[in-house]
Amino acid sequence: MLNTQGREAVARVSEPIIELKDIKVYHRSRTGGIFKPNIVKAVDGVSLSIRRGETIGIVGESGCGKSTLASVVVGLQKPTDGQMTFKGRDALKRNAAFRKEFGSDISIIFQDPATALNPRMTIQDILKDPLDVHGIGDKSGRDRRVRELLNLVGLPQSAADAMPSQISGGQRQRVAIARALALEPKIIVADEPTSALDVSVRAQVLNLLSDLKEELFLGMVFISHDIQTVRYVSDRICVMNKGKIVEQGSAEQVFDHPTQDYTRKLLGAAPTLLHV
Ligand code: ADP
Ligand code: MG
Repeated sequence: MLNTQGREAVARVSEPIIELKDIKVYHRSRTGGIFKPNIVKAVDGVSLSIRRGETIGIVGESGCGKSTLASVVVGLQKPTDGQMTFKGRDALKRNAAFRKEFGSDISIIFQDPATALNPRMTIQDILKDPLDVHGIGDKSGRDRRVRELLNLVGLPQSAADAMPSQISGGQRQRVAIARALALEPKIIVADEPTSALDVSVRAQVLNLLSDLKEELFLGMVFISHDIQTVRYVSDRICVMNKGKIVEQGSAEQVFDHPTQDYTRKLLGAAPTLLHV
C-alpha cells in the first residue's frame, strides 16, 4: 500500500489514462437557416490529461459544455475535431476489444440516479448487470462482488433485494456509484453527482467519492456548476466558459489568485451546500 505522499508521487509521474488534445464538439443549432446554419460550439478546443489518483474538477455555468466534455471522455460522444488517446492508443478508432477495455476502465456517474437506474430491476441485478455484460466471474463470484460493492459504498446488504423506488435519493446515488465501480475502473467521471440530491445528503456523497478515490486510487473528473463543491473534492480545477478551459490550477491558485473575471464571478455566486 502506498501512503498519501507516495500516491501523489505516482499520480504526478504516471502516464495519463486519457489524453484529450484540442477537442471540439460542434452542433448545428435548430435556429439557423439551411444556407447559414448556426453552429453551437459546445466544446471548443479542450486539452486535458486524466491520470489515476488525481481529481480534476470542472466548473462553469450551465451550458458551458461540461456534460458534452464528459460524454467525450467516456466515449459516448465523438468529437467533431481533435485527438483523444486511451493508454497511449488512438481512442477515436475503436474495435470491439478496445471498446470492452475502455468500457471497464472508464465509467460515469450521472446527475440523477432516479433516471440512471432501471426502476424495474432490484439493486442486486443493477449491480450484477455490468459483470454479466463483461462476462466476469461465475454466479457465486458475482454475488460476492455485489456484497463487496454494497459495502464499499456504505449500503446495508439488505439493500440488495430492494427496488430503486424503495430507497432514498442519496442511497440511489450510492447504488449508481457502486455500479460505476463494478468493473474496477481506473477513471470515474461524475457529472453533477450531487446536484439532484437533498442538501442534507450532498456532503456525505462527496465524502464517499473522495474516500473511494483515495482507497481505489481512482482518477476522477468531477463536474459541477458550483465552485465550492468542486473545491471540496478536487486536486486541480479547470474553469470552463463557452466550451473552453479559461483557467486551471490547484484549488488554492484558482481560489486565491483567479486570473479571469469569469472565475471571480463564479467565486462570488450563490451560497454553497457546504455552509448549510
Ligand atoms: P453543461 O453541461 O455545461 O450545462 P452542455 O454540455 O450540456 O453544458 O451543453 C453545452 C452547449 O451545447 C449548450 O449550449 C447546449 O445547448 C448545446 N448542446 C448540447 N448538446 C447538443 C445537441 N445534441 N444539439 C445541439 N446543441 C447541443
Ligand atoms: Mg451538464
